[in-house]
Amino acid sequence: MTSVDFPKHKKAKALKPTSRRPAKELCSECGLCDTYYVHYVKEACAFINQQIGELEEQTHTRSRNLDNPDELYFGVQQEMMAARKTEPIEGAQWTGIVSSIAIEMLSSGMVEGVVCVQNTKEDRFQPMPIIARTPEEILAAKVNKPTLSPNLSVLEQIEQSGMKRLLVIGVGCQIQALRAVEKELGLEKLYVLGTPCVDNVNRAGLQKFLETTSRSPKTVVHYEFMQDFRVHFKHEDGSTETVPFFGLKTNQLKDVFAPSCMSCFDYVNSLADLVVGYMGAPFGWQWIVVRNDTGKEMLELVKDQLETQPVMSKGDRKEAVQQSIPAYDKGVTLPMWAAKLMGVVIEKIGPKGLEYARFSIDSHFTRNYLYVKRNYPHKLEAHVPEFAKRIVSQYKLPEK
Ligand code: FAD
Ligand code: SF4
Repeated sequence: MTSVDFPKHKKAKALKPTSRRPAKELCSECGLCDTYYVHYVKEACAFINQQIGELEEQTHTRSRNLDNPDELYFGVQQEMMAARKTEPIEGAQWTGIVSSIAIEMLSSGMVEGVVCVQNTKEDRFQPMPIIARTPEEILAAKVNKPTLSPNLSVLEQIEQSGMKRLLVIGVGCQIQALRAVEKELGLEKLYVLGTPCVDNVNRAGLQKFLETTSRSPKTVVHYEFMQDFRVHFKHEDGSTETVPFFGLKTNQLKDVFAPSCMSCFDYVNSLADLVVGYMGAPFGWQWIVVRNDTGKEMLELVKDQLETQPVMSKGDRKEAVQQSIPAYDKGVTLPMWAAKLMGVVIEKIGPKGLEYARFSIDSHFTRNYLYVKRNYPHKLEAHVPEFAKRIVSQYKLPEK
């Protein structure tokens, strides 16, 4: 069923915050069920009905070419590049390309509102989705809220506001549900600015991650798993703390990631018009994937604020990915001195640029494939997209 065939939704009632979501424990709290668009949940939910190929056709006029190695990994595209703002936005996750594009789109009148996510007054990591109508409100949404965020919970307000041109910023699972109901929103034009996303957590899970990994969990304002194989924490006093990936307490953190993220194969946000991340770019740079003409139009608005360079690729990830499969499975944690040493070595000789992005995609897809196979074997065939099956098939996985 395509979204065109959907019956009317306005009589449906949003689910109560306490009621169990249709995707049950796989729910990523994308927010769709907090609105009357819950009416479409069986078709639209990324964890009930995986339909990335069909939605790629709807959005980009074609699905990805599986024989093109870049599209197999990074999705439908016209162009990829590394970029950074010549004048970075203070306090943004990276250099603030996402916030800058949103501000330009709003200021130029291209859109009337921007769906983005601020945090609550009480808790810097508690997400609070909004429809921003001023540049100040967009700026107040800068930096990742590294928790599941119900961005689509504001969808009802869009229809009620009469808005016709909208930008939505979001991660893959939110965007899949959004694209599935796009035609029901009453918009003339929807723009989607996506970020890659992986290993997200609920608020309690985030607390456990911070307490297990950082020297000062209370003062962390920002963190990122970076291309130098370290987690970088930024603290309130401006100091930076780094922890090598190989030193993470995998045995304690195994259950911290949300089940939705353990079963997600849309790391690169396949259905956004434009994707802004970091993992395919050299350290310190952001990585941009232009998927279609709409994405190109969005990027053009900030081109004069950016320094860019072509994407590069160096190294060979395959051996490292293969070795990480049983290591993760057994929850192997290295002593810190060994983890630091390993971090230094791998930073020197390990995969860089697009090869680092492939390393990260391969490691997560193999882990997630095993998770779905073990926990939801009946969903495996339909839930794992064809491109992910091809990527996973390059590796030897444990039988059980
Ligand atoms: P900013 O200008 O700081 O803007 C950040 C934007 O993100 C804001 O507009 C805000 O509305 C939105 N946002 C914040 N939190 C959320 C959320 N929980 N859900 C939806 N939207 C949100 N990139 C990679 O290359 N590899 C990764 O593995 C990766 N993992 C990520 C995991 C998460 C949970 C998130 C939210 C992002 C991830 N990214 C990843 C993207 C990357 O961290 C940056 O967000 C991106 O490069 C944009 O940086 P910026 O400085 O331009 O963003
Ligand atoms: Fe509903 Fe979104 Fe949860 Fe699916 S992931 S059950 S659409 S809130």
